Amino acid sequence: MTQTVSVQVSIMGAGPVGGTIACRLADAGVSVALIDRAALPPMENPAFDGRAYAIAAGSRGLLEDAGLWRALDVVPNPIRDIRVSDGRIGRPPSRLHLHFDHRDAAQDPGPFGWMVEARALRKALNARFPTQPNLHLFAPATATVERHDDRCVVSLHGGSAIECQLVIAAEGRESPLREQAGIPVTRIPYGQTAIVCAISHQRPHHDLAIEHFLPGGPFAVLPMAPSSDAIAGGAPHVSAIVWTERRDAATTLLALDDNRFGREVSRRLGSHLGAIRPIGRRWSYPLSAMIVQRYVDRRLALAGDAAHGIHPIAGQGLNLGLRDGIALADLIIAAAQARQDVGDATLLTRYQRARQPDNLLMFSATDGLGRLFGTERRLLRATRDLGIGAVNRTTATKRLFMRQAMGLPPTGD
Ligand SMILES: Cc1cc2nc3c(=O)[nH]c(=O)nc-3n(C[C@H](O)[C@H](O)[C@H](O)COP(=O)(O)OP(=O)(O)OC[C@H]3O[C@@H](n4cnc5c(N)ncnc54)[C@H](O)[C@@H]3O)c2cc1C
Repeated sequence: MTQTVSVQVSIMGAGPVGGTIACRLADAGVSVALIDRAALPPMENPAFDGRAYAIAAGSRGLLEDAGLWRALDVVPNPIRDIRVSDGRIGRPPSRLHLHFDHRDAAQDPGPFGWMVEARALRKALNARFPTQPNLHLFAPATATVERHDDRCVVSLHGGSAIECQLVIAAEGRESPLREQAGIPVTRIPYGQTAIVCAISHQRPHHDLAIEHFLPGGPFAVLPMAPSSDAIAGGAPHVSAIVWTERRDAATTLLALDDNRFGREVSRRLGSHLGAIRPIGRRWSYPLSAMIVQRYVDRRLALAGDAAHGIHPIAGQGLNLGLRDGIALADLIIAAAQARQDVGDATLLTRYQRARQPDNLLMFSATDGLGRLFGTERRLLRATRDLGIGAVNRTTATKRLFMRQAMGLPPTGD
């Protein structure tokens, strides 16, 4: 029998962005339906997964307000220093490098960000959904969405219908709702693949994140919390690797056995972490960037990767999505508390105004960095090395970069 549920907001996609917004809204008393086409339990990989997000200081607030930060079962590891260097495989990094120390970013500094295990966030989300009386979860479920001037109707295939005032598309990069609304998208292919994995190592990482620019693409080493898998293997410290390579080279690297793969990691990493060993499985992501020209349509708002997908060079993709979530949730909660329509066109326009400039800036910056550091042309290499050296000596410019990476406003503490 068909049943109709009435809520204020329906969210399509229970990924990190949609799921976090749902928890934040439900916590503030807004009624929410959360629909995902995938079943939730298989998203929790019980084995060590090795994927992690660098969550910036400015986006952590949404995870806290949504009650998720305290529910993470692996303590996030802080990032206190960042080193950016230019280099070649098998050779030491250029002496002209950038070093960012969190103590220089603000008068009362906290870390730049935290490495949060993707599996820990997934588990926290899945555990939190059923505890919120305002949150109705439908997963796995497919649905058809009709958006009218005064309301939306989400019809779940083979079951209930949901009536709501606003639909949030948080379905990731291939968002069907965005396509249906005819929202134009700008896309940039990169011809690169990101290899993502974790390593255990003998020496501590001292909470340092490294971005080493190599000819095939950036090679990032990110400090993670200790794991029992690493301790059992005798190399107790853990780092995540996000390693960008041209597509054919990545295919060859991904096919190597653990010993040879570990040797290739060492050739790029250097020796400062001592002996290393790959742990967990390897993941690969073909890279491209995309950004929407509009964030909203009639009773529809796009959030997270449904609105923008960027190069992982600065580890900012999810951070942008969480910042979309902060802006959208604040507007919805304020409207709900004032007993106003949460799908109103004015609210949606304010959301777009709040998020479009920040997302466009990060989209352009990460695309530009990828191109600048992806070149092997000698003159450009020399110029960028000089640029790195100059920025390293200029405190004000460095501070600006640091605050941007932390997701904080350019000035103020
Ligand atoms: C190599 C790599 C490294 C990265 N590292 C970082 C990092 O360090 N820090 C960072 O901030 N970001 C990072 N990112 C980016 C980050 O992974 C994404 O920005 C983030 O996953 C986006 O979350 P989302 O919830 O918007 O979308 P997704 O994670 O794509 O989730 C979308 C959800 O929608 C569901 N769905 C899809 N279609 C439908 C439908 N039709 N109906 C209902 N549900 C649907 C899916 O099942 C899924 O659950 C990285 C990305 C890559 C590729």
